[in-house]
Amino acid sequence: MRDTNFLVENNARRIWHPMAHPAELHDDPPRVVMKGEGAYVTDLEGRTVLDAVGGLWNVNLGYSCDPIKKAIADQLDALPYYSGFRGTSTGPSIELAWELTEWFSHEGMVRAFFTSGGSDSVETALRLARQYWKIRGQADRTKFLALKKGYHGTHFGGASVNGNANFRRNYEPLLPGVFHIPAPNAYRNPFDEPDPERLATLCVKALEDEITFQGADTIAAFIMEPVLGAGGVIVPHESFMPRVREICDRHEILLIADEVVTGFGRTGSWSGSRGVGVRPDMMTIAKAITSGYFPLGATMIGERMAEAFEADRTSFGAIGHGYTYSGHPVGCAAGIAALAETKRLRLDENASARGRELASLLEDLKARHDVVGDVRYKGLMAAVELVSDRTTKKAADKALMKVVADAAYDAGVMLRVSGSNIILSPPLILTTEQVRELADGLGAGLAAA
Ligand code: PMP
Repeated sequence: MRDTNFLVENNARRIWHPMAHPAELHDDPPRVVMKGEGAYVTDLEGRTVLDAVGGLWNVNLGYSCDPIKKAIADQLDALPYYSGFRGTSTGPSIELAWELTEWFSHEGMVRAFFTSGGSDSVETALRLARQYWKIRGQADRTKFLALKKGYHGTHFGGASVNGNANFRRNYEPLLPGVFHIPAPNAYRNPFDEPDPERLATLCVKALEDEITFQGADTIAAFIMEPVLGAGGVIVPHESFMPRVREICDRHEILLIADEVVTGFGRTGSWSGSRGVGVRPDMMTIAKAITSGYFPLGATMIGERMAEAFEADRTSFGAIGHGYTYSGHPVGCAAGIAALAETKRLRLDENASARGRELASLLEDLKARHDVVGDVRYKGLMAAVELVSDRTTKKAADKALMKVVADAAYDAGVMLRVSGSNIILSPPLILTTEQVRELADGLGAGLAAA
């Protein structure tokens, strides 16, 4: 490792960071994180802070999970890599596929297609959806529907179904045949309907209207996050996704649940879909599958699709898609260990209990600080939306967001700013004391604003 001076001098000089403006990095260089322990990280200057971001919604087990580290080291010794392309397989990928199909059997998932991360998983799901309809002899079903404010990663397919202009505008034209409907966001309300259940009904109606307008027989799939994460932790009323499922069934449209964030206990259930009793046709997962210790994802495939593909003997059924690192044995070994720890520690229950504590502290902060326009949460995922004016709901600007994040950091808590939202997604191993510590740090940030 080069010395500290080298890192300081070259930070932002040789890297273009994701989701950052290359020109701004020079004036406002990223914090260099050097170490992690439990729910804490330490930066280049030796400052240790509570990680309220959980890496990037993924380090559910915190930074000191020895079983994952050991599984990775052991697998590196045994076999650092082999391909999963037709003709070869590896032990850890078989074992993890078994674990995942058991884990998500409640949601009706029967097969796993491994990827290197969330964007890959979304891309895989979109492709398999199209292919499914070709196998079924309905080749016109090519379109995708999605939610405004949804986030589905950065490949062209995922970017096309993304519902946020920030991730689209500079990369257009995107995939044709993608249409968006309003998300049930009670704060930035598409229908000015304050009642969450009635708002959900209106959004469901908008979905059905769009299906009628497009023609159901032209639509391959609808993709949604059970809780919209990057769009600002928008938590749909619990009736929303079940009703979306009904409508998809009525029009024979595939439902893809993007569970990249919500997949392993984050919302207080083992999946967002399970939390509202929905069985999607496919689930995209990544992030916490290895608790972030190794890049890995998967597209989980439900029974109806698996049967169609496996019964097909024509060229339509062959999967002409896959990644060099699909089923990477080291990633899969990490995944097996991460899932075992996640289950052993009942992280779903901890997310739910600590989430309730966090929610009540966030409501207190909202009551005390005018700069807070809205707080939204489910389990241990939350957003604090900042405004410069509560009445007009004018979004807080970048400078204000930075004041809050910097002051919170000085008070010992790492926050993540996304637009005018502070996104909270701490490790799911959090204790009650750490929930309070997080809220205190956030409170110090809000006070500075
Ligand atoms: N889907 C969702 C819901 C996500 O939140 C993300 C990433 N935050 C992705 C897909 C893309 O995952 P990745 O960054 O691992 O490619």
